[in-house]
Amino acid sequence: MENFQYAEVIPLVKLPKSLGIFDYKIPAGLIDEIQIGQLVEIPFRKKNIFGIIIKLKKDAGITHKNLKEIVSIKNKKILAPYQIDLIFWLADNYFQSLALIVKSLIPPIPKKNYFNKFDVKSSSGITIKKNIQKALFDISGNTLIYGDYPKTLPIQIINAYRKKNQQILYLLPETNIVRKKVKIIEKYFNSSEIGVITGTISKTKNYILWEKILHKEIKIIIGTRRAIFAPFSDLGAILIEDEDDQSYKQWDQNPRYNAREVAIKISELTHSNLFLFSRAPSVTTYSKTLKNFNKKFYPWYGKQFEMVDIKNEPKSFPYRYISNRVNEVLEQSQGQCIVMINRKGSSRLVLCKSCGYIFRCPACNLPYAYYATPQEVLRCTICAKTLQLPEKCPECENIEYKFQGAGTKKIAEEIQTRYPKYALEILDGDTPMKKKKEIIADFKNKKIKILIATQSIFNDIQVEHPIDAVIILSTDILFNIPEYTSEERAWQFIIKSSMYANTIIIQTNNTDNFAVSCIAKNDFDAWYMSELKKRKLFHYPPFSKIIKIIFQNKNKKNAETDASLVAKKIKEIIKFDNLSIEVFGPIDPYAIITRKYYRVHIILKILKNNELLQNIMQTVPESCLIDVDPVSLL
Ligand SMILES: [Zn+2]
Ligand SMILES: [Zn+2]
Repeated sequence: MENFQYAEVIPLVKLPKSLGIFDYKIPAGLIDEIQIGQLVEIPFRKKNIFGIIIKLKKDAGITHKNLKEIVSIKNKKILAPYQIDLIFWLADNYFQSLALIVKSLIPPIPKKNYFNKFDVKSSSGITIKKNIQKALFDISGNTLIYGDYPKTLPIQIINAYRKKNQQILYLLPETNIVRKKVKIIEKYFNSSEIGVITGTISKTKNYILWEKILHKEIKIIIGTRRAIFAPFSDLGAILIEDEDDQSYKQWDQNPRYNAREVAIKISELTHSNLFLFSRAPSVTTYSKTLKNFNKKFYPWYGKQFEMVDIKNEPKSFPYRYISNRVNEVLEQSQGQCIVMINRKGSSRLVLCKSCGYIFRCPACNLPYAYYATPQEVLRCTICAKTLQLPEKCPECENIEYKFQGAGTKKIAEEIQTRYPKYALEILDGDTPMKKKKEIIADFKNKKIKILIATQSIFNDIQVEHPIDAVIILSTDILFNIPEYTSEERAWQFIIKSSMYANTIIIQTNNTDNFAVSCIAKNDFDAWYMSELKKRKLFHYPPFSKIIKIIFQNKNKKNAETDASLVAKKIKEIIKFDNLSIEVFGPIDPYAIITRKYYRVHIILKILKNNELLQNIMQTVPESCLIDVDPVSLL
């Protein structure tokens, strides 16, 4: 065996991003045992701490004489080999320190060393309890599966990879969905081969599971986004259901990763295949099918869309939200109806009350957001260009504007007043868990006649029995939230809402809706191609990467000063090359105060990833939060 005398170690302590790797000498007694991916104890600044070995070498250059020695090996091995590369990619891609990445990757190490207690053996047999028919298409490459795909398809794919005796990772957006899916999977495969990782897993369980996955005792791993960091030794396939779901993005703490993007990297590093499932895939994922992803579309049949024009369709006084046509549908329905409304970010939209005209920033192609204070103004959420709200609508010269969409409560009130005898419930993001469970059960048992819901319903209520109609209100707001993803979100909202019924009524200002016509014609590709064209024109993802730099300070002035200083430096850096990177800001976000801190944003659009970006990121203070491809720009 080769004699490596030195090791590169990532110490697991908070350090500046530029300081991540330290050299240590391997004591003679440990040379035979030492391995890449091990957790070791090292002396660091007068203390003994943990670190991860990432490289072994024969020579440590001129500094080797002063090097400290590794104290002990804490664990035979804690990382799979590909995870070392993954750590570097994560640190690079999400602009975090190596130590932070390692810490968020590995499970907390229990005080007792469980590893010595457990004799982990890799079981080599393949046990499949119940057979399932083969998938009807070639499943040997990365594939996007979209539209109305059969529910059993993921199990068929898992089965195929189990027959090859490989490991499979199956990601789902939420813990409650994981629980339901585990019950189904256990009908087909031995539960001793199945491991479940969600946010609620205990430390000890997590650690034991980690060891079992690393030694291939666990073959099928089902979980939420954090399961993506499990240490696979023989990964065959990664399956991600509802790949467009925002739960795959860690938005509230570092590293702010997207499990789908991490999965793409892992499949590359491990030569495993990736299967992304969605009723309505994200535009970014769809764009991959134009390059190296296969695609498999399942059309849906029997859907009837009806567009109700609210401009011409009368509403009966004093009712404001429900048109007479929608009223008719609700009255005639013998069964159940769902009324879908979108709530997120709706209150900042201004539109002409008469013709529905919406003011847009000409440079960014985004609807302006309305700010009432300090003075009444429309402002672009990306480039911060402002516009005084004109006295008359430029389209129809009407002088009245509408400022926001109605919330769930107001619509519920109106429906309730109109139909006092109907059993009616509201299900939205604010519904408490216990109440939510009751509503889900009552809806299933048909005790609820009208369910008023927001997008949170998609993960809560599965399509199990046919209902009379889905009514979608306020689509105009949906399509015009001041985010570059608003069209995509609206598209997904309509498709997912339409799953519940064959009759879909859409109440809108604009009956000539391209997205709806594509859905009705089963021509999903046409919509994606048109959306990609727009994204390309205005340099949005997938044609750029967006980085949101968040400055936060208890003092508003300080946050602003810091941000403008950095923005100035960045603008200086890109002065001679504004084709690779565009910079916007400083910008006030919607929620200026978050957790008692004032926030100010700088937005970067990265068109070409080159050394300029490295220079720019070096000007960003360590105290800033960095969010790559954020869920929201606001
Ligand atoms: Zn108008
Ligand atoms: Zn703009």
